[in-house]
Amino acid sequence: MHQYFFIKTYGCQMNEYDSEKLNDLLEFNGFKASNNFEDSDIAILNTCHIREKASEKLYSDLGRLSIFKENKKKIGKNMQIIVTGCVAQAEGDEIIKRNKNVDYILGPQNFHKLPGVLKNKKTQKVHSEFSYKQKFDSLVPSAKKNVSKLVTIQEGCDKFCSFCVVPYTRGAEFSRPVEQIFAEIKHLSNNGAKEVTLLGQNVSSYNSEIFEDGVKKKVSLGYLCSIITKINGLKRIRYLTSHPNDIDQNLINEHKENSKMMPFLHLPVQAGSNKILKNMNRKHTREFYLRLIKKIKENVADMAFSSDFIVGYPEETDSDFQETLDLIEKVKFASSYSFKYSARPGTPASIKKIQVSEEVSNKRLEKIQAVLNQYQTQFNLSFLNKTVEVLFSGVGRKNNQFVGRTPHLQPVHVTSNLNIIGKLLKVKLLRLTAFSFHGKLVE
Ligand code: SF4
Repeated sequence: MHQYFFIKTYGCQMNEYDSEKLNDLLEFNGFKASNNFEDSDIAILNTCHIREKASEKLYSDLGRLSIFKENKKKIGKNMQIIVTGCVAQAEGDEIIKRNKNVDYILGPQNFHKLPGVLKNKKTQKVHSEFSYKQKFDSLVPSAKKNVSKLVTIQEGCDKFCSFCVVPYTRGAEFSRPVEQIFAEIKHLSNNGAKEVTLLGQNVSSYNSEIFEDGVKKKVSLGYLCSIITKINGLKRIRYLTSHPNDIDQNLINEHKENSKMMPFLHLPVQAGSNKILKNMNRKHTREFYLRLIKKIKENVADMAFSSDFIVGYPEETDSDFQETLDLIEKVKFASSYSFKYSARPGTPASIKKIQVSEEVSNKRLEKIQAVLNQYQTQFNLSFLNKTVEVLFSGVGRKNNQFVGRTPHLQPVHVTSNLNIIGKLLKVKLLRLTAFSFHGKLVE
């Protein structure tokens, strides 16, 4: 008899990708996906450690699942509870200690072991080795057909920003082999994917090699993009997330010369004050960041940028915060994410003596979000009445309504009597609402 599983995914796109891969792997091994925990024999929580209260959320979900498991037991049924992802990596033993109903813990580089662990009823409960190669070698081709797909090309990080847990939970940088990435994207393209987003905690540090005409060649992110561009059905290439220090001329040239490269770059700066950047161990200055933006713009005129910001970082003064606002004004980001600093246990920033008060952090967050929204609206308004190419990937809520994205990742709604999912079509943008454009097909 089949065993049913359900995966709850927390957090980032990398976790979404991992959950999809875990889903494919379990189905490949004879397990069946279910739509909810209630109908499942195996409950999987794929956790994220990046935001505040990640572990609190996990423990409260585990509490609910435990009650469910106990009730099932009373009627002679079993449910296995599995915790995967970054919280599993960081707090595996603690989770098992605090909740006896958890059966297995698998860190992000171990989820490929789950079919074997379940089938062989392993006695080892916590699996937290950094086994990147085995993980990627075990992945099976994706079963889900979507127009836009995520593909992890790199994992881990060697940068050690003072506020971040990634180097500890995902481990050192690892780049997947070019051939493996090419084969995965080719398979996705053969199954209808038109756009791919290459993922990595530090995607711009991608670093691999291939043999070309018998000569070993280094492959950076720019070169990798030029290689996957050869896949005919693939129309758009994006990548996420980059570190300013790793953006090289190769990548910039690829954007300049390759029309499949989308002109939208998520390039986190985190803060605009050199003092705070130094405290954060970002290893770049505001001047370096601004020079890089200028250089990219000189090469790729329509490039738009998004960023991440942390406000209320330890020792951030009003004038440091003002420098962040000043940097935003200079770059005019097309969109951004901003967060209030929250200490992640075990990171160097969490033990700094001068912490910014909650009240001041809240005010700064409100201010920065207002400024970022203003530039986002300004950016979007500049597209009104223009015609842009939109890749349609799904249906809207209304009859005959379809949703797609512009090259700059803006959502667009149109109506059409024909099914246009998977099509790249020209749209005149007529109206802008809080969340998306509404437009008219022009061909
Ligand atoms: S570069 Fe990104 S992933 Fe790496 S430590 Fe810094 S914030 Fe974390």
